Amino acid sequence: MADEEEEKEYRWETGYEKTWEAIKEDDHGLLEASVADIIHNAKRKRQMEKKVGARLGMMRHLYVILDASESMSLQDLKPTRFLCSLKLLEDFIEEFFYQNPISQLGVIITRNKRAEKVSELAGNSKKHVKEVQNMQQIAPVGEPSLQNSIELALKSLRLLPSHASKEILIIVGALTTCDPGDINETIQNMKTDSVRCSVIGLAAELYICKRMATATGGEHGVALDDKHYKEQLNMHIDPPPAATRLDAALVKMGFPHHALHSSANDSAMAVCMCHAESSDESVKLLSTGYLCPQCLSKHCELPVECRACGLTLVSAPHLARSYHYLFPVESFKEVVFSGTPSTCYGCQKILSQKDKKVYICNKCNETFCLDCEIFIHESLHTCPGCATNPDTYQKSTDRN
Ligand SMILES: [Zn+2]
Ligand SMILES: [Zn+2]
Ligand SMILES: [Zn+2]
Ligand SMILES: [Zn+2]
Repeated sequence: MADEEEEKEYRWETGYEKTWEAIKEDDHGLLEASVADIIHNAKRKRQMEKKVGARLGMMRHLYVILDASESMSLQDLKPTRFLCSLKLLEDFIEEFFYQNPISQLGVIITRNKRAEKVSELAGNSKKHVKEVQNMQQIAPVGEPSLQNSIELALKSLRLLPSHASKEILIIVGALTTCDPGDINETIQNMKTDSVRCSVIGLAAELYICKRMATATGGEHGVALDDKHYKEQLNMHIDPPPAATRLDAALVKMGFPHHALHSSANDSAMAVCMCHAESSDESVKLLSTGYLCPQCLSKHCELPVECRACGLTLVSAPHLARSYHYLFPVESFKEVVFSGTPSTCYGCQKILSQKDKKVYICNKCNETFCLDCEIFIHESLHTCPGCATNPDTYQKSTDRN
């Protein structure tokens, strides 16, 4: 453990953190291609780190803490740091719930030395996106408080069962934090509650943020530009490797049928449980919806935690969507293009001198172009070569 920390201590000396060396101008004197390279290399590095059979924290509870201090109104990100963050956060929330359907998320902002909970820990992306959009009206003022916001997040994370992966993601633009007490105690609290805290800096690397991330097993990064910032956020979409202290528990789940297809008395008009309490939205009587198999209360959307009995309600495709994390496509071998004419196995593009590097699957030995390599690992999650080759396909099904 001590060795691991030692190694991480000087991360800015390795990887793409040493960006001033990596940035080179292209033929037109632009830097964009160089940043794109950095991002691509980082993606590949992350793929390489993915291990088959690693334990992952799939049931995630993530609090996003957004800095709304005066420094967020700076314009190094367009139009301002704050507005740029909100826009990226919106996309992040959508993507997070798409990839982690049984997880929950909450948003906290910090300004004027205080922390405010913008949206509670919940599993519905629509509500969060709406809150984030409303935040555009907020004017960033004062100083942030890391301690207040973390303690606020801890208050609700503490109550969660021990098999849930608890995470905090801090986006900080300020170089100062104004705290009422000792932040080391807060870091200690996070460690005791096994909360994983990650930080994305927008200005510079802060010692305390770095320490916080290292001590709790989180990630720390500083955004170079808006694209790199987005990439830093996307890093948190994949579930993190489970901490050794995370309990493995069997969670009871319900698979409700859509009420439209069930017997007549089930589909009687009723207000769904999830909207019955809300006052702002017009409550509608619905004849359709999902009925909890345990208590027969009605919900209009899945996945959701039953309001009446607390059972987690999901549909099978939600579980299938997170399946690929458990059996990821192994990373391809990167080789320099040899010059022998060949076609990409994925898109049938003829590989030419322009493709400096081609990618070869270790299992089926098929060649892929860069675009296909990215698409396979980011969206498709299965190798077309292996899937269409009867031999390798047989092998992979035997193994599972
Ligand atoms: Zn509803
Ligand atoms: Zn129920
Ligand atoms: Zn291709
Ligand atoms: Zn393959």
